[in-house]
Amino acid sequence: MYIDGQWRANEATFPVFNPATGEKLADVADANARDLEDAIESAHRTFPEWSATTAYRRAAMLRDAYALMMERKEPLAKQMTEEQGKPLKAARNEVQYAADFLLWYSEEARRLYGSTIPAPRSDQRFIVAHQPIGVVGAITPWNYPTSMVTRKLAPALAAGCTVVLKPAEQTPLCAMEVFKILDEVGLPPGVANLVTTSNPVPVGEAFTSDRRIRKVTFTGSTEVGRILGEAAGKSLKRVSMELGGHAPFLVMADADPVHAAKGASLVKFLNTGQACISPNRMYVHRSIAEQFTAVLADRVSKMRAGNGLADGISVGPLVDDAAVEKVERQVTDAVDKGATTVVGGHRLTADGLEAGHFYAPTVLDGVEPGMDIYREETFGPVAPVIPFDDEDTVLDLANDTEYGLAAYVYTNDLSKAMRLFEGLRFGIVGINDINPTAAAAPFGGMGDSGLGREGGREGIAEYLETKLGGFSLR
Ligand code: NAP
Repeated sequence: MYIDGQWRANEATFPVFNPATGEKLADVADANARDLEDAIESAHRTFPEWSATTAYRRAAMLRDAYALMMERKEPLAKQMTEEQGKPLKAARNEVQYAADFLLWYSEEARRLYGSTIPAPRSDQRFIVAHQPIGVVGAITPWNYPTSMVTRKLAPALAAGCTVVLKPAEQTPLCAMEVFKILDEVGLPPGVANLVTTSNPVPVGEAFTSDRRIRKVTFTGSTEVGRILGEAAGKSLKRVSMELGGHAPFLVMADADPVHAAKGASLVKFLNTGQACISPNRMYVHRSIAEQFTAVLADRVSKMRAGNGLADGISVGPLVDDAAVEKVERQVTDAVDKGATTVVGGHRLTADGLEAGHFYAPTVLDGVEPGMDIYREETFGPVAPVIPFDDEDTVLDLANDTEYGLAAYVYTNDLSKAMRLFEGLRFGIVGINDINPTAAAAPFGGMGDSGLGREGGREGIAEYLETKLGGFSLR
């Protein structure tokens, strides 16, 4: 743990495992109530001083943190592969994405402009200023263990907030590396605190009920987001929620099925399908569905699953056995109800994968609304293909979900692209684009996918209060 500028161990620990090999990587301090109280109190005590530092100073520290993270890109990526499982190339990309937030918000810190507003009376002036909201309680998931930490820390610190962050139990080591960097660039004690624990419940309760914390920012499942949102409502705290998704992937009749299948194979299996913006329903126009599915299946059959540190591996393990069981259950349910397994459809337990949590990259054809996979977030390497006949129907089908995070469309027809961009009820829409994310762009969902945005100009606004000054002149 990192509390009040000091690294802190504890007698109680919990183990962290490599999901590809089952090997234990470390024992990490398991926070108790005292640790949590110390972290919150430290952030609270430090807030007046940190919020009064100049934006220039905060920007300089974040810039230094960016430089240090870039310097450490390779070891950070390697550690991420060991702890979380994604192939090394993807881990390098994530470290870059994580560092991008530090740089982007170092720049945004100096652009926290206010405004003046024409007042109704001639002797009156209106000034609008933005001030940091206060102490932030942050909770992050394991699937993007470094970038989800900086996506919260960088805007919060740039805005002048202080933070207590709890990383996912499966990936505390990546979070620790981010805090080592902040420590080394000289962030004052108490500004950012890290509490590692195997029991998230007391942390959630403290973050949502403690009066010293003014904002809760959470990335994780919709189920837990709901619990935290409800509790935070009682004490009227500001909340940001980056939750689950069930992304539709539309391939229209005019699209090139080969190009679209390539895109589908690249985005679906990223992080072994363990991404909130991973396509969960691939709607393909019936006239090209056969060709699309054949090309997708061919690409998927050539993917090699394994330890992400080895050469040529494009699909890593799932995070744990429960994740494999969930995928297995969804595939079995779909097949029982009439879907066809075109490729994959089973666990991988041979050729050195015995001790890890592997599931074969899978393509399912003939997926229909009554199947669990059609509605539940899969979080695994399964691409369900669903043929469709016309644009209006597919738009309704795509929108028929409680989630609203990301959607993808392949089309070469500009009017169709614009109609679908406008009609899809999702926070992020990729038009012939499988990677519509960047530190400079607002990321977030509608409906059960969450509240608020991270990244971009919008991301820092989540950590600011708006204050109106009305001045009467004499
Ligand atoms: P999760 O089970 O909700 O856990 C997320 C975080 O919440 C972890 O740190 C977890 O701690 C903590 N947590 C669990 N129960 C809690 C409670 N009662 N009170 C306070 N904290 C609690 O989700 P996950 O399985 O780690 O992550 C996968 C989910 O995250 C997926 O649904 C995915 O779509 C979503 N996600 C969304 C985005 C986005 O930007 N929208 C990005 C990435 C992931 P422990 O680890 O100790 O359980």
